[in-house]
Amino acid sequence: MAVHDLLDRPLRDLRVSVTDRCNFRCTYCMPKEVFGKSFRFLPREELLSFEEIARLARIMTGLGVEKIRLTGGEPLLRRDLEKLVAMLAPLGLDLTLTTNGSLLAEKAHALHAAGLRRLTVSLDSLDDETFRTMNDVEFPVAQVLDGVEAALAAGFTPIKINMVVKRDVNERSIVGMARHFSGRDFNLRFIEFMDVGNTNGWRMADVVPAAEIIETLATEMPLQPLAARYRGEVARRFRHQNGGGEIGVIASVTQPFCRDCTRLRVSSDGRLYTCLFAGHGHDLRSLLRSTSEDDMIAEEIRAVWQNREDRFSELRGLQTTPQPKVEMSRIGG
Ligand code: SAM
Ligand code: SF4
Ligand code: SF4
Repeated sequence: MAVHDLLDRPLRDLRVSVTDRCNFRCTYCMPKEVFGKSFRFLPREELLSFEEIARLARIMTGLGVEKIRLTGGEPLLRRDLEKLVAMLAPLGLDLTLTTNGSLLAEKAHALHAAGLRRLTVSLDSLDDETFRTMNDVEFPVAQVLDGVEAALAAGFTPIKINMVVKRDVNERSIVGMARHFSGRDFNLRFIEFMDVGNTNGWRMADVVPAAEIIETLATEMPLQPLAARYRGEVARRFRHQNGGGEIGVIASVTQPFCRDCTRLRVSSDGRLYTCLFAGHGHDLRSLLRSTSEDDMIAEEIRAVWQNREDRFSELRGLQTTPQPKVEMSRIGG
């Protein structure tokens, strides 16, 4: 891809990580062997404050950002998160949040009341044993399902459900998840296991290609492909032919979409990452804390975006020496 193609990509989508901490230890994201008791998470003063995040969001809207996703780590572990939602909601952007769902039963109502209208819950299986193994937690999957129910009751519909699929770990849960989350209340997304970070022991052999996921589903339920709604839509979507609801697959590994990537990520400590697989982030926090000039910050962000040349997924496999990458729990997917 020529560099001018990359420059053509608009900046549309911002992901903000509000914490690097999590109460799960998903094997594909924060394996316990690395993120154990001795792991040093960021101290509070290193996290962007809600005021700093809101300021950044305002500046980014001036640069074309239309959508903000709050993520983590587990965003619901950040105390008073609904206060941040209340600060961001008046900006009129498409505001959404990705969560593991375990704390939703207590938080869903306050988040909705603060102005959040869209929600993604990550869930990899309905089977307790698979859930405990893959997500490395001590509680049953019912806790997440209760959270999903509470979110529906609070007014979040449809809820997006993200399922990461790992070969021989939860691939047997694909059909059950599609049946459970069919209907108009949910949009289920199957995500290929990605080689994010440096700690999840990723191997191509553990990836279940999106095409295979669709084949598996198509033998059990009639599906009709849906057209993309906009350039850069990452999910290939399908409609259940008998009944409402849709499912989608995100083929980040087997069908990369770098040339349409319009996402910028801000880590919990205020670094700007132009790619999920980047090794280096640009320090915005120092700038936010040292100047009152929003224009200066906007210029810095614009320069970072215009100079990026990221297309990791398209080059995957061509790299001879593996490069260090930022961990998913710092930038939130
Ligand atoms: N803790 C929240 C959650 O799990 O929803 C938000 C942060 S999590 C890093 C955001 C998304 O990244 C989740 O949907 C998770 O399943 C996905 N994810 C994490 N590691 C991944 C990997 N190695 N491959 C694909 N998706 C991954
Ligand atoms: Fe936590 Fe989400 Fe990563 Fe799982 S995917 S360890 S829930 S941050
Ligand atoms: Fe975007 Fe990087 Fe993913 Fe390509 S690899 S789609 S540039 S985040």
